[in-house]
Amino acid sequence: MILVSACLLGHRVKYDGGDNLDSLLLKYSDKGRFFPVCPELLAMLPVPRQPMEIDHATGRKVLTGKAVAKDMNGMDTSSYLVEGAGRALEMAEANHARVAILKESSPSCGVHTIYDGSFLGRKVPGEGVTAALLREKGLRVYSEKDLTPELLESLIAEDIKYDT
Ligand code: SF4
Repeated sequence: MILVSACLLGHRVKYDGGDNLDSLLLKYSDKGRFFPVCPELLAMLPVPRQPMEIDHATGRKVLTGKAVAKDMNGMDTSSYLVEGAGRALEMAEANHARVAILKESSPSCGVHTIYDGSFLGRKVPGEGVTAALLREKGLRVYSEKDLTPELLESLIAEDIKYDT
Protein backbone atom coordinates (compact mmCIF):
# COMPACT_ATOMS: atom_id res chain seq x y z
CA MET A 1 0.00 0.00 0.00
CA ILE A 2 1.05 3.60 -0.63
CA LEU A 3 0.74 6.13 2.18
CA VAL A 4 -0.83 9.40 0.94
CA SER A 5 -1.45 12.67 2.77
CA ALA A 6 -5.16 12.57 3.56
CA CYS A 7 -5.77 16.12 2.32
CA LEU A 8 -4.48 15.14 -1.16
CA LEU A 9 -7.22 12.51 -1.32
CA GLY A 10 -9.89 15.09 -0.54
CA HIS A 11 -10.19 14.69 3.22
CA ARG A 12 -11.03 18.05 4.78
CA VAL A 13 -8.24 17.98 7.36
CA LYS A 14 -6.24 21.11 6.53
CA TYR A 15 -5.68 23.69 9.25
CA ASP A 16 -8.45 25.83 7.70
CA GLY A 17 -10.90 22.95 7.29
CA GLY A 18 -10.27 22.54 3.58
CA ASP A 19 -8.55 19.91 1.47
CA ASN A 20 -5.83 19.73 -1.19
CA LEU A 21 -7.56 17.27 -3.51
CA ASP A 22 -5.14 16.25 -6.26
CA SER A 23 -6.83 15.34 -9.52
CA LEU A 24 -4.16 12.84 -10.59
CA LEU A 25 -4.30 10.95 -7.30
CA LEU A 26 -8.09 11.01 -7.47
CA LYS A 27 -7.96 9.49 -10.94
CA TYR A 28 -5.92 6.53 -9.67
CA SER A 29 -7.58 6.11 -6.29
CA ASP A 30 -9.94 3.42 -7.61
CA LYS A 31 -6.93 1.10 -7.95
CA GLY A 32 -7.23 0.69 -4.18
CA ARG A 33 -3.53 1.10 -3.44
CA PHE A 34 -3.66 4.35 -1.40
CA PHE A 35 -4.33 4.75 2.29
CA PRO A 36 -4.86 8.24 3.73
CA VAL A 37 -2.89 9.57 6.69
CA CYS A 38 -2.98 13.01 8.30
CA PRO A 39 -0.15 13.17 10.85
CA GLU A 40 -1.56 16.26 12.52
CA LEU A 41 -4.93 14.62 13.14
CA LEU A 42 -3.16 11.49 14.37
CA ALA A 43 -1.55 13.79 16.95
CA MET A 44 -5.09 14.77 18.03
CA LEU A 45 -4.91 18.31 16.67
CA PRO A 46 -8.34 19.69 15.74
CA VAL A 47 -9.82 20.94 12.46
CA PRO A 48 -9.64 23.88 12.09
CA ARG A 49 -6.39 24.67 13.88
CA GLN A 50 -3.77 27.40 13.89
CA PRO A 51 -1.31 27.20 10.99
CA MET A 52 2.15 26.04 12.06
CA GLU A 53 5.62 26.56 10.64
CA ILE A 54 9.02 25.14 11.48
CA ASP A 55 11.03 27.97 12.99
CA HIS A 56 13.90 28.63 10.58
CA ALA A 57 14.96 24.98 10.43
CA THR A 58 13.83 21.66 8.95
CA GLY A 59 11.76 18.70 10.06
CA ARG A 60 14.86 16.63 10.69
CA LYS A 61 16.02 19.12 13.32
CA VAL A 62 12.59 19.15 14.97
CA LEU A 63 12.75 15.34 15.15
CA THR A 64 16.06 15.49 16.98
CA GLY A 65 15.00 18.30 19.31
CA LYS A 66 17.37 20.82 17.75
CA ALA A 67 14.60 23.09 16.44
CA VAL A 68 10.96 23.84 17.09
CA ALA A 69 7.72 24.38 15.21
CA LYS A 70 5.35 27.12 16.31
CA ASP A 71 1.83 28.25 15.58
CA MET A 72 0.92 31.83 14.67
CA ASN A 73 0.62 32.71 18.36
CA GLY A 74 4.16 31.56 19.05
CA MET A 75 3.13 28.37 20.84
CA ASP A 76 5.65 25.54 20.54
CA THR A 77 3.84 22.76 18.65
CA SER A 78 6.86 20.55 18.04
CA SER A 79 5.58 17.71 20.21
CA TYR A 80 2.43 17.42 18.08
CA LEU A 81 4.39 17.21 14.87
CA VAL A 82 6.79 14.62 16.29
CA GLU A 83 3.88 12.60 17.70
CA GLY A 84 2.06 12.74 14.37
CA ALA A 85 5.17 11.62 12.50
CA GLY A 86 5.55 8.64 14.81
CA ARG A 87 1.94 7.62 14.35
CA ALA A 88 2.20 8.01 10.58
CA LEU A 89 5.22 5.71 10.65
CA GLU A 90 3.24 3.15 12.64
CA MET A 91 0.52 3.23 9.98
CA ALA A 92 3.12 2.90 7.22
CA GLU A 93 4.59 -0.15 8.91
CA ALA A 94 1.18 -1.72 9.59
CA ASN A 95 0.31 -1.35 5.89
CA HIS A 96 3.75 -2.48 4.64
CA ALA A 97 4.19 0.82 2.80
CA ARG A 98 7.46 1.44 1.02
CA VAL A 99 6.33 4.66 -0.69
CA ALA A 100 4.68 7.83 0.62
CA ILE A 101 3.14 10.67 -1.39
CA LEU A 102 2.92 13.76 0.79
CA LYS A 103 1.62 17.33 0.49
CA GLU A 104 4.35 19.75 -0.46
CA SER A 105 5.35 22.59 1.92
CA SER A 106 3.47 21.41 5.03
CA PRO A 107 5.46 21.45 8.31
CA SER A 108 4.51 17.77 8.66
CA CYS A 109 4.28 16.53 5.09
CA GLY A 110 6.51 18.88 3.03
CA VAL A 111 8.93 16.92 0.85
CA HIS A 112 11.11 19.47 -0.94
CA THR A 113 10.02 22.79 0.58
CA ILE A 114 8.56 24.16 3.80
CA TYR A 115 7.61 27.63 5.02
CA ASP A 116 10.45 29.43 6.72
CA GLY A 117 8.88 30.19 10.10
CA SER A 118 8.13 33.86 9.45
CA PHE A 119 4.44 33.33 8.55
CA LEU A 120 5.05 35.66 5.61
CA GLY A 121 4.44 33.03 2.95
CA ARG A 122 8.14 32.44 2.27
CA LYS A 123 9.19 28.93 1.25
CA VAL A 124 12.66 27.47 1.70
CA PRO A 125 14.21 24.11 0.77
CA GLY A 126 13.54 21.50 3.45
CA GLU A 127 11.21 18.76 4.57
CA GLY A 128 8.48 18.43 7.16
CA VAL A 129 8.71 16.31 10.28
CA THR A 130 6.76 13.29 8.97
CA ALA A 131 8.59 13.34 5.64
CA ALA A 132 11.91 13.36 7.51
CA LEU A 133 10.96 10.40 9.72
CA LEU A 134 9.54 8.28 6.90
CA ARG A 135 12.67 8.87 4.84
CA GLU A 136 14.87 8.04 7.80
CA LYS A 137 13.04 4.71 8.11
CA GLY A 138 13.60 3.85 4.46
CA LEU A 139 10.42 4.88 2.68
CA ARG A 140 10.69 6.61 -0.69
CA VAL A 141 8.91 9.91 -0.31
CA TYR A 142 7.37 11.94 -3.15
CA SER A 143 5.27 15.07 -3.17
CA GLU A 144 2.22 15.60 -5.36
CA LYS A 145 4.40 17.94 -7.41
CA ASP A 146 6.70 15.06 -8.39
CA LEU A 147 3.87 13.02 -9.84
CA THR A 148 3.27 12.25 -13.49
CA PRO A 149 0.84 9.62 -14.77
CA GLU A 150 3.84 7.47 -15.72
CA LEU A 151 5.45 7.70 -12.27
CA LEU A 152 2.18 7.01 -10.48
CA GLU A 153 1.42 4.01 -12.69
CA SER A 154 4.86 2.58 -12.03
CA LEU A 155 4.56 3.10 -8.26
CA ILE A 156 1.16 1.39 -8.26
CA ALA A 157 2.43 -1.51 -10.40
CA GLU A 158 5.42 -1.96 -8.09
CA ASP A 159 3.13 -1.89 -5.06
CA ILE A 160 0.84 -4.57 -6.51
CA LYS A 161 3.85 -6.74 -7.38
CA TYR A 162 5.29 -6.34 -3.87
CA ASP A 163 1.99 -7.52 -2.36
CA THR A 164 1.70 -10.67 -4.47
S1 SF4 B 1 -0.64 17.25 8.10
FE1 SF4 B 1 -0.29 16.51 6.02
S2 SF4 B 1 -2.15 15.32 5.58
FE2 SF4 B 1 -2.64 16.60 7.32
S3 SF4 B 1 -3.56 18.45 6.42
FE3 SF4 B 1 -1.36 18.85 6.69
S4 SF4 B 1 -0.46 18.32 4.71
FE4 SF4 B 1 -2.47 17.38 4.77
